[in-house]
Amino acid sequence: MKTKMLQLVFLLSVLLAPLSFNAQIHMKGKVDIDMNKGLIGCELRLSNIPELTDYRIWINKGMNIKYFKNSDAELIQYDGFYSGKINGEAIEYTFVQDSLAHIPNEFNVTYKGAFPIYQNEFGPFDYKGAIAFNGETLRATEQTKWYPVIYNAKTDRILNSYSYELEVHIIGGNTVFINGTKPQKGEDLHFVSKKAHPLLLFAGSYDFVESNGDYIINTNVSKETSKKVFDNIEIIKSSLSKNLKLKFTDNIYLINHRAVNKRPKGSSWGFNTYPTFAFTGLDFNKILNEKGGFSNDINRYFGHEFAHNYFGNNVMSGKLGWFWLESFAEYLSYNIAEDLCGMDFLKQVLLGQLKYIKDDSFVPLAHVEKRSDINEKYRYIVGPFILKCFEDRFGRDKTNLTLQSLLKVSTTETLTLNQWKKSAVQGGVSEKDFETFETDFLVNEDFLQNVKDEILRNYSNNK
Ligand SMILES: [Zn+2]
Repeated sequence: MKTKMLQLVFLLSVLLAPLSFNAQIHMKGKVDIDMNKGLIGCELRLSNIPELTDYRIWINKGMNIKYFKNSDAELIQYDGFYSGKINGEAIEYTFVQDSLAHIPNEFNVTYKGAFPIYQNEFGPFDYKGAIAFNGETLRATEQTKWYPVIYNAKTDRILNSYSYELEVHIIGGNTVFINGTKPQKGEDLHFVSKKAHPLLLFAGSYDFVESNGDYIINTNVSKETSKKVFDNIEIIKSSLSKNLKLKFTDNIYLINHRAVNKRPKGSSWGFNTYPTFAFTGLDFNKILNEKGGFSNDINRYFGHEFAHNYFGNNVMSGKLGWFWLESFAEYLSYNIAEDLCGMDFLKQVLLGQLKYIKDDSFVPLAHVEKRSDINEKYRYIVGPFILKCFEDRFGRDKTNLTLQSLLKVSTTETLTLNQWKKSAVQGGVSEKDFETFETDFLVNEDFLQNVKDEILRNYSNNK
């Protein structure tokens, strides 16, 4: 009976597979870029939009909407143009026609935006959500909402990975890259991806180098160097995929970009828009040591960024979003540090981070009420420490099984502490032991002291 059931489930999933592929939102249209004036103009059609009743359409606040139109090219009335609500980088739009109680399956939108160019000068900040023109390149990630992003308010999920077919016209530049397809040279370009990706746009005047289908973008490194870079990256990728039992299947795009704010010499920040990994101020010619390998710092830095291949947009949901997103990636970078660089390096990292949280106080995870309760230090130090304590109590194997289970859940649901417990128990941690861990590190008002004590106990040099 059981086998019959299994066969049926298998058959159903095979039958359903093509359907779920078709359920992908598709974006088609034209994108005009003027590098000299900092202009972006879009004429886009989104189709195959799932049925949503409580939705928002997010478009970057610097974009001026010309109109929304339906599939018959008729104007659609919309809210958001007056006293519009800003959410992050975007203004929220909704349709107001009576017949459109829910979002239509398809709509067209035309808009244009002008952005400052920071050529030989700097602005006060730069981050993944900024549309950055620096005189050479334009960087616009999915987080900027340079293209319409659909937000499902009911489930707090962002829909921003689309298959696409785009005509790009660029003035004042010679190369364009859209995440998921190879970069192209020219002024009138055609990009097609049947697979859905978050649409990072990187355009301007630059070169790129290819190695086995992987690319380094905006660089002048040789083929030989790029091969060595990707050989090193392969080691990080396979370490992560071995631990999490999920393969990296896509080609990788590495972007070197120049930030539009002034940064301390030698510092770098990166972000991930899978399968693209972007880094500021990283000279790929200088990234290899004499032996042709990465330094310990680069291994750990890349370890964090590539870990977002697993803990990425899928987990950025709910009030603990920052914990699932950044703390898990940072925790995984500890494992990369330990496995590729050795325990001495890991100890140095952990003890170094410990110093940064000497005088701070934080809300225990169980009492977090809003996303902003988890500030940068929480995301990048305290959260990863909590996970490290989890690993030190229950072992790497059970931790990996817990992470694998959380990743499965994250494809459809918002992660919660309750789910963490369920996944831990599935991974072989006894319910009682998890509850003790929970009390010490997730609930207790003194959790921070417990975390510090545990890290010091396990990793202090005197040990
Ligand atoms: Zn990160």
